[in-house]
Amino acid sequence: MEKSLILIKPNAVQRGLIGEIIARFERKALHVTGLKMIQLDDALLNEHYAHLRERSFFTILKESMMVAPVVAMCVEGLDAVETVRMMVGATNSRKALPGTIRGDFSMSGEQNVIHASDSVENALIEVKRFFNEGELFEYQSAVTSFEYGGEEKARM
Ligand code: UDP
Ligand code: MG
Repeated sequence: MEKSLILIKPNAVQRGLIGEIIARFERKALHVTGLKMIQLDDALLNEHYAHLRERSFFTILKESMMVAPVVAMCVEGLDAVETVRMMVGATNSRKALPGTIRGDFSMSGEQNVIHASDSVENALIEVKRFFNEGELFEYQSAVTSFEYGGEEKARM
């Protein structure tokens, strides 16, 4: 099943939004298969945000990601990566549509409450970056038949 890596950022942890954000993914019927709180460090952020290292805000961004712990989460579902990105909304929260997590919970392009993998390829790398094998769980969902149709289940 397709996996996506989510980080509930320090600004969301500070603002008491952990529960509301996790609840959105559960209500969507994405399955939580990994969940933990961790303190990020400079080395991990250099890797995670390598695509932004030339940007003016790189150091400020990394600092903002270390001021408090993050909640790392792995969710699974059919087309999970694309679905999660749609739920998260545009990078600049002021441009993110109402109904999306950033659109509903943030006014900032930087302090935008959540990270989510942007492609299936990156999701594979990011899930491995934040979770050891023993921290991810495979379990039979009791309600999959009520969450997906027959043709969809054949793709899972
Ligand atoms: N970011 C920022 N200013 C920008 C672009 C990005 O502060 O102009 C921050 C923001 O916190 C964003 C993170 O850098 O979530 C990673 O940027 P990316 O382009 O990967 O956006 P995302 O995938 O998070 O939507
Ligand atoms: Mg990104």
